[in-house]
Amino acid sequence: MVWKFPIQVPLRAEEITIPPDVTPEKVPTHIVDYSEREQNVEQLRAEVNRSDVICIVYSVEDEDTLDRVTGHWLPLIRSTLGQQHQTPVILVGNKVDLVDYSTMEIVLQTMMEYPEIETCVECSARTLKNISEMFYYAQKAVLHPTAPLYILEERDLTEKCKKALIRIFKLTSGASSCRLFIQRGRHETTWTVLRRFGYNDNLQLTKDYLFPPSLRVPPGCSTELNHAGYSFLTNLFEKYDRDNDGNLSPQELIDLFSTCPVMPWGPDVLNSVHTNEKGWITLQGYLAQWTLWTLLDVQRTLEYFAYLGYSGTGDDNQLSAITITREKRIDLQKKQTMRNVYQCHVIGPRDSGKTTFCQGLLGRSLEEVQEIPEEKLSRHTISTLQVYGQEKYLVLHDIDVHNITDALMPNEVQCDVACLVYDVSNPKAFEYVARIYLKYFSESSIPVLFVANKSDMSPVRQDYILQPTAFCHKHKLPPPHIFSSASQPKKDIYTKLATMAAYPRFQAAWMLFYRSRHLKQLGVVVGEHSTWLKVGLGVAAIAAFALLLARALRSGER
Ligand code: CA
Repeated sequence: MVWKFPIQVPLRAEEITIPPDVTPEKVPTHIVDYSEREQNVEQLRAEVNRSDVICIVYSVEDEDTLDRVTGHWLPLIRSTLGQQHQTPVILVGNKVDLVDYSTMEIVLQTMMEYPEIETCVECSARTLKNISEMFYYAQKAVLHPTAPLYILEERDLTEKCKKALIRIFKLTSGASSCRLFIQRGRHETTWTVLRRFGYNDNLQLTKDYLFPPSLRVPPGCSTELNHAGYSFLTNLFEKYDRDNDGNLSPQELIDLFSTCPVMPWGPDVLNSVHTNEKGWITLQGYLAQWTLWTLLDVQRTLEYFAYLGYSGTGDDNQLSAITITREKRIDLQKKQTMRNVYQCHVIGPRDSGKTTFCQGLLGRSLEEVQEIPEEKLSRHTISTLQVYGQEKYLVLHDIDVHNITDALMPNEVQCDVACLVYDVSNPKAFEYVARIYLKYFSESSIPVLFVANKSDMSPVRQDYILQPTAFCHKHKLPPPHIFSSASQPKKDIYTKLATMAAYPRFQAAWMLFYRSRHLKQLGVVVGEHSTWLKVGLGVAAIAAFALLLARALRSGER
């Protein structure tokens, strides 16, 4: 190895760069030379506090200087930095060219007593023997410190190190690339692996690793997982679905998250997504839950992707799993969207049957919903639906209106489609949602669907200036969708909501469509059908609607 080194080492500020064939890290090194003749102790203490590594130099031909290492210098450093300090110290025996013996045996004894001594080296400043090695060890002690990894007295790994290595081992499934060895002075491999999996010098995951700094989500945009994200998650699912039954049992789910600081999914998660008959999460439900997290709190997805080793599998960081969608305003202008996840706010009084309506998205019946304790319910449900041949996610967000004068927060209003739910058997119910519509949605571009819920009960006349159907007609809305949770929930209403969210500009066409299709149904249930019967659109409206939609789909493909 050719390594040129200046003969004259200046008192201060020397730049040393270790050749790249020794270590890939180039390390500018600032050297501070101290001798008792030139500086006082206070200056020394200040320098010791600032240093990353300390070299104590003694002369191999002068026993007194070696005695002063333990009698003076090491205690002085401890009294400056604290008894348990972790600044590495290197013992340097100089003038090795003058003697034909080694001081290593005495020095090894000292090393046992002072764990802060990282290593020792004998050298000659005159012949330059081992001088470059000394600086190499010094730099290595900073880059690859022992203290966080290994407790010398106990000859064992530290707890933090064990935890980190177990996580890495799980993430790599014990792959051969993860063969680790830790011995004193041979920590490069361990540190290389630890740093690659996001650990800092204190063996904590770095903030940059957990939260990549460049993620910006402009207003009006949303966050979705892309193909890379879903394929990472699917692989993870398959790895932990050990019995290959397509579901994660409670234990399999715990194992999947075992590389994370806490188990993040409580019972409410299992009530937000598809599960099997035992209540275990399916692959579909699992991917849906991640989709929901990514939509509502993308930082949390990024954080957990880091724990789960997304960044550890390549040079990418987690951002490569996320797509930031185009601003919704532009989607509306261009009449097309590339979004795959739509938010539907389900708004209505508490007793309007919203919970069962939202759980119906997951195919759960009224009886099944009644068995879920209230505290295990989530405000969100999410599932995939087919919208004109394309798979889209629909998120239902259950929002209570407690009082007739209740105000909605801006984030309770902003959504892709609003679903206003009232109980047909309660004469006061419609006024709640009618007021919400007038106050928040009548002037907005958000499509709205009223849902006449509990239609299995006897409908009553609503105690409001307009009956629901007349209200919808006046505001150019599709008439209320008749819904009941008493029978097995039907999927069509959720598909309608997703389609309205995907094609918001076609509200007028939707209205015609519904008018023609639901004439009879409305006549029976609401009993105020005269105006509707006169419209008589029938087949013509369906044809017009189909044409509009076909155009939209064609432009969406371009
Ligand atoms: Ca399983």
